Formats: sequence, C-alpha cells, structure tokens
Amino acid sequence: MTMKSEADFAKMKIAGAVVAEVHAAVREAAVPGASMLELDEVAHRIIRDADCRPSFLGYHGFPASICTSPNEVIVHGIPDGYKLRDGDIISIDAGAIYDGWHGDAAFTMAVGEVSPDAAQLIEVTERGLWAGIAAARPGNRLGDVGSAISAVAAPYGYGVVREYIGHGIGQQMHEAPDVPNYGRAGKGLKLKAGMAIAIEPMFNLGTAETSVLDDGWTVITQDGKLSAHFEHTVLITKDGPVVSTLAEPKLVAG
Ligand code: MG
Repeated sequence: MTMKSEADFAKMKIAGAVVAEVHAAVREAAVPGASMLELDEVAHRIIRDADCRPSFLGYHGFPASICTSPNEVIVHGIPDGYKLRDGDIISIDAGAIYDGWHGDAAFTMAVGEVSPDAAQLIEVTERGLWAGIAAARPGNRLGDVGSAISAVAAPYGYGVVREYIGHGIGQQMHEAPDVPNYGRAGKGLKLKAGMAIAIEPMFNLGTAETSVLDDGWTVITQDGKLSAHFEHTVLITKDGPVVSTLAEPKLVAG
C-alpha cells in the first residue's frame, strides 16, 4: 500500500468535501417519486461544478456517477428509471477525484415512513461504520476495525456481508489493503500514519448471502431482505483517524 503525505491528504480532503456535498444534495432529492437517474444527475452536476471527476463513471465500465441501491440491493446498483416509494430505503455511494485523489463514501436513508426494522437497520449500520472508524488508529490492526464493526451487528443478528469490503484508497479508488467488516482483534495489517482506507460495512436484515444480477453489477441479498451500507474515507494520522468525506474533516478522538 502507498503511504500518503500531508499534501496528499489535503487533496483527499477536498475530494471528500465534494462527496459530502453530493450526499447532502442527493439526500434532499431522494423523495418519493424521484428516479435513480435523477439522483445520478444531481450528483454528476455537483462533482463537475467542483472541478472534480466522478470516481465511478467508467470504472470497469460502470455507466453512472453514483451507485443507487434500494431496499434489497446491497451495493453497486446502477441508476435507472426506478422511482422511490414511501417506505423504501435507499443507499447512495459516491466518489469524486480531485487533482488525481479520491474520496469515496456511502449512506443509507429512509424514504418517507419506513418500518421499525428498516429504521433500526440503518441506524445500526451507521453505528457499525463509526465503530470501525474509531478503531482505525495508528498501532491498531485491520482485525480491530473489522471486529469492532461486526460486534455492532451481532446483538441484532444482522448478516454482515463478507464478499464486499472496504479498501485502501488514494490515487486509485481501490488500493491495497482489503478492509473487511469482520476479523479478529489484534490480527491483520498494522495501521500507520499516512495510510488511507475506505471503511464500508454492509449489514443485512437477514443472512449475509449475496447474489449478483445479470447486469453484472447489482448486488442483492439472496433472501430478498433489506440491506444498508455506510462508508467513509478515513485518513490515518498520528493523532488518530480523520474522516475526509465530510464537509469539514473530522478527527475521531481516542
Ligand atoms: Mg468504497
């Protein structure tokens, strides 16, 4: 994995702030009746207006600037004509490149009134992300991150997706190392200042099993139950993890 300088991190923070702006705008646009393609247009315009490039557009042929993953879709949904309905949950994954450096982040939200089960899944998955971020301190290991995430899911019996995981990030959207959402505390690669990783838990209301649709992209739960996904890009500094994909970078205190 490549180590980053302060100057590199500064560029990643600019990319990250653009991703945060995309999240805020798409969150506002994601009302009942809004189509996935409309949300993609909102995101695309913001990324272009910020003199960035969308990380996802053209990535291995991906045709859009964001992934839109409603309900039983876990990740990598391709924006299409599907229109949001009251009671849906929707995951949005967005990436931006500023001067060659990436930011990558995802969130899941309720559309209108959702079931208590759906609301809890969203809340707990976001909590899993922040538990993973808090564990991403220099001197800790990737197993500490993964085990912190899966420990949040365990009391709820959620399936923790294993086939799709977080990743190193920098001048490539996906770099070494793999960042699983499971693992054993004290095991795995040791984190050091200068690393950057995207942490992205996916929790399922049912089992962890996944399937891929015929489009080759869309990943769904095998049992058809809901899935939620949250992600931030995290810069490892000597002071602790700094989340770059927020409007203002956030140091997570130990
Ligand atoms: Mg990612």
